[in-house]
Formats: sequence, C-alpha cells, structure tokens
Amino acid sequence: MKRLAAYMAMILSLFCVSVNSLAKDKLSAEEERARQQVERICLSMQQYMERPDNLKSVKLDKSPEINAYADSDNNVTFLMGMVDFVRDENELAVVCGHELAHLAAKHISRSLFTRIVSSVAADAIGGFAGDVAGTALYSKQSRKHEREADRRGLLYMWQAGYDPRAAWKFWQSLENQYEQGNASISKYFGTHPVTRERVENFKVLLVRNCYDSPALSYCGEILADEELLKAFNEYEERD
Ligand SMILES: [Zn+2]
Repeated sequence: MKRLAAYMAMILSLFCVSVNSLAKDKLSAEEERARQQVERICLSMQQYMERPDNLKSVKLDKSPEINAYADSDNNVTFLMGMVDFVRDENELAVVCGHELAHLAAKHISRSLFTRIVSSVAADAIGGFAGDVAGTALYSKQSRKHEREADRRGLLYMWQAGYDPRAAWKFWQSLENQYEQGNASISKYFGTHPVTRERVENFKVLLVRNCYDSPALSYCGEILADEELLKAFNEYEERD
C-alpha cells in the first residue's frame, strides 16, 4: 500500500512538472498576437528571397532580451524584447529581412563551417596565438555576412512595400540604446555590432538603389532627403 502511494505521488509530481513546463512555454494572448504579427511580416517578404524555401518557420520566444536570430534548421526566431523595442512594423521588417537574408545566403551553415575551420586552425597553431588567428578568421567572415544580409534584407522589405528608411533609423536607435548601457541588448549587439559605418551604409544603399531603380517606392522622398544625399555624396567622394 505504501509503495502504491509512493507511485501515485511520483506520477502526480511528474504530471505537475509537465503541466508547469507547458504553462511556462505557452504564449500569453499578447505574445501570440506578437507571434502572428512577426510571422505575417516575415512571410510577406519570403517571395523576394533568392531561395524562398530556406524559410521553414517564424517563432517567438518569450524572453525580454532584444534579440532575433536565424538558425541552421531554417527558422527565424524573434525574442519578445525585440518586438517591444521596435517602433513600428517597418522596423520589424528590417530585422526580419536581415535574418531572411542570412537564410537565403546560407550563412548559418557556412558560419558553422568557418567556426570549425577556425577552431581547427587554432588547434593546429596552438595556444593563444592560435585562438587569435581562429577568431580573426571567423569575425572577418561574419562581418562580410552582416554586410550582405544588410544589403539583401533591405531589398526584401522594400519590395514587400515597407518603408526602407526604417533601416538606418532602427540601427541608429540600437546604437543609442547600447550607448545608454541597455544590458538586454548585449547579445544581439555581440553578433550585430553597430558602427557609424553601418548606419551610414544604409543611407548610401537607399540612394544608390533609387538611382539604379527609380521605380522603387519611396524614391521620391529618398532622393529629396538632404541627409541621405549628403551621406551618399561623402561615400562617393571617398572612393
Ligand atoms: Zn546578422
């Protein structure tokens, strides 16, 4: 009888653990609305990806951290902190476009590969010097991927009808948060460092895309924006 009671208690506790973990993972009504919003925005851009099949699903994580990422299983995940941080749907489209571009260009598996190559290089050279060599190789590659994802992602959101000027404004506000010491931003910032160059680069891309394809939406406003034209002209003069 005692043994039966012990079994019953064990079964009950297992049940409670699984119910608790289910309750923890379940999205609230507000989070579910956010999930549907980011899914709708990402799916509206999917057709403009070079490889649309590379997007499997769009997920929402309850974490208050300001972050979003694409993974090697072709999912894009937004953390709730990012949804709360952005000012509007245009800025959500900036983030999603960037992550979709990583998937379209297969950066994730390539990054993993580079990381393996880097660690092999580090092991071969050995010690601190090896670590530095490996890290340098990885970060050079990841900087290249970041530039490519910025460029492609901007086009996806633009073609889907979002205001592309949100791109430089989003990165500028991320930079401002970082400078103010917002800790919840640190992980995203670690893989997506914002420099003045990155913000300025978006301004140059806006103008250049309008010169190349004047039929794009918002080009009337973009080519009349003195701040954007100034950034473009400064860039052209440097080259
Ligand atoms: Zn990125």
